Amino acid sequence: MPVVEECKAIHALRVTLRGRVQGIGVRPALARLASGLGLSGAIRNTSRGVQIIVEGAEDSLSAFLEGIGKCLPVAACVEELQVQHGEAEGRTGFSIETGGPPDVLAVRVPLDRVACHDCLAETQSTDDRRAGYAFTSCTDCGPRYSVIRTMPYERAETGMASFLLCPTCRKEYESPNNRRFHAQTTACPACGPRLWCCDRSGRVIAEARHAICAAAETIRRGHSVALRGLGGYQLIVDATSRFAVESLRRRKRRYGKPLAVMVGSLEEALGIAWLSEKEQELLTSAAGPIVVASRRDDGVLAPEISPGLATVGLMLPTTPLHALLIQECRRPLVVTSGNNEGEPLAYRPEQAIDRLHELADVWLEHDRPIERPVDDSVVRVIAGRTAMIRLARGYAPLPLRLESRRPGIALGGHQKVAVALTNGAQAVLGPHVGDLNTLASRERLLEHITALSQLFGFEPDRWVVDPHPEYFTTRWAADRLGHIASVQHHHAHVVAGMLEHGWLDREVLGVAFDGTGYGSDGTIWGGEFLRATATGFTRVAHLRPFRLPGGEKAVREPWRVAVSLVEQAAGLEAASQLRFPVDVNGSADLAGLLRMVHSKRFSPLTSSCGRLFDGVAALVLGTGASQFEGQPAMLLEAVCAQEEPGVYSLPIRAGDPKQIDWRPMILAVLHDLAAETAPGVMAMRFHRGLARAVAQLCRDYQPLPIVLSGGVFQNRVLVELIVENLADLAQRLGLPGLIPVNDGGLAAGQLAAAIASWDPRD
Ligand SMILES: [Zn+2]
Ligand SMILES: [Zn+2]
Repeated sequence: MPVVEECKAIHALRVTLRGRVQGIGVRPALARLASGLGLSGAIRNTSRGVQIIVEGAEDSLSAFLEGIGKCLPVAACVEELQVQHGEAEGRTGFSIETGGPPDVLAVRVPLDRVACHDCLAETQSTDDRRAGYAFTSCTDCGPRYSVIRTMPYERAETGMASFLLCPTCRKEYESPNNRRFHAQTTACPACGPRLWCCDRSGRVIAEARHAICAAAETIRRGHSVALRGLGGYQLIVDATSRFAVESLRRRKRRYGKPLAVMVGSLEEALGIAWLSEKEQELLTSAAGPIVVASRRDDGVLAPEISPGLATVGLMLPTTPLHALLIQECRRPLVVTSGNNEGEPLAYRPEQAIDRLHELADVWLEHDRPIERPVDDSVVRVIAGRTAMIRLARGYAPLPLRLESRRPGIALGGHQKVAVALTNGAQAVLGPHVGDLNTLASRERLLEHITALSQLFGFEPDRWVVDPHPEYFTTRWAADRLGHIASVQHHHAHVVAGMLEHGWLDREVLGVAFDGTGYGSDGTIWGGEFLRATATGFTRVAHLRPFRLPGGEKAVREPWRVAVSLVEQAAGLEAASQLRFPVDVNGSADLAGLLRMVHSKRFSPLTSSCGRLFDGVAALVLGTGASQFEGQPAMLLEAVCAQEEPGVYSLPIRAGDPKQIDWRPMILAVLHDLAAETAPGVMAMRFHRGLARAVAQLCRDYQPLPIVLSGGVFQNRVLVELIVENLADLAQRLGLPGLIPVNDGGLAAGQLAAAIASWDPRD
């Protein structure tokens, strides 16, 4: 051995690689490189990435660093490479440390929490050092999921990393008796994020507290403010101003869909909506969701907030920034996600400037980065339970009671997409991503999949999708390497309900009512009764199928459905008598529609309950066009005259599968229309009739537990009527809960169904 080598000093390096580096052969590749260079040391996966310690001569260490890029497997993607120098410990040989189970994240990711009372009191006091400071937080409150880069949750791994604690904050952070002992997101005006207000050209017009005053002034004048919130940009306008709300709708191209309102206090909320105890509890909870509640007629809100609806979505300030702003505005505010309708929530400053330029007049900005976009959650109390409408801030990632040693990701469907995953140590349902109609939203989904799998420390190679051949998620997964499973849409809905209620090991009767789902026979399903286990199902009953004249077009133009229903129930003559208001596209071409109503090619068959609601709404309310999916059903629910005892008949026809026949109901509606019956009465009779038919069918399959699933069951009137009808079976009735019953919960059901059917041998 050459003497000169032995004289060389021995050094050590600690190298950490982050990014897509685990589970794809990175460790063996680096071990080979190190051994080849005569270095000793060890390599292991940690929840933060791959960590290598190498010891040896300086030139070999340099060669090692240079060689890393070239030796890695192609699937690897290093986003960050950290090199620390250290003292050699005299290691011999090179080892790959496995140390038991793979190093995936077993701990839960903490959830974002709204500002606590103590923090709000400090920001609103006059003498506290955090008076007026918008980024006040403590161990009880503040951003979590939205600021975490990697787990474990420590300041250095969050968006707060670049804000070094000042001596006073440091002291609080280190004092065991302080409320901010180890509060990872703590900050103060001296050391934390800064706030400013700028105009559309980016010119700063005010800073710190003055920025809040400037933004408030803009809002009071009827203009809109883009605010960088906790999980993304939000658009804010005066909720009492008709002008402000209408102009926001126009600019955002959001027509008809209800807007959420933020109020300063619970007292203020009680002046706007009728709130049950449970609703008040949700409103003031640490998760701080938007609570959909009955709107008071005598409130101060502009009617354009939720046109045609009897409800309003309310929330309290979620961060000190919101609290300070609303205090300055002294009125309720519309707070809606910062995006054009259909696009994903903007959360990076460069995206926001680009996408929100036409939507906002003034910007309330700060320099705390948002690491993970997350919308506000939306909940509704139905039959005394919390029913999740949109799972996001404060609730997501939602832990799922699923066990699997194999990692995998379920991608949901096409609308309201959220993904569910298991990394082998835990399973969760991720936050709402959105509809996948735009390129931007598809890109956001892919970004989100990568970000979530990195957070949970695994490399997915098992995918679970909807069998719909046209869904983006289905087609995208088909191009992945690995194992792909598909789970029928309504089965996934039912299994999500089984998971919600801890019934995965049982057989249930699942009622899956929604808008559209790809059926096992290639037709469009959506009014299904499935006798189901976690791994399979039999379709035991469904709504009598009807034709959707114009296919997809019928979703936007419910009058088409009405014509089809009437034609089948009462004949061509009755259908040709129907009159609908002229829609935005000109006039309703009734004659043309009647010619194609039986066309197999242009009028696909469906058993969809969502579409049945559309058709009935068109008849009862004269709704010619729908501004968003589900709107006709929401309008129909809103007009229900709850004291009306009448019931339309929807008889159950024998057969295999059985069918719920809606034709007598349509005939009764026509009769009531001719008698000029009030729409609220007809709407209620329809809800009662459908609830009775559902209950009747469910009784046939006793003692199976019953699961209500699918977006139709966001309808409070319908669910509560079913509960009333099945009061004696309350223990066996699985109602909507924290896993959304709409497509936002689909992925949870897909994942649970796939795990139950994965062969233990592969
Ligand atoms: Zn706090
Ligand atoms: Zn400080």
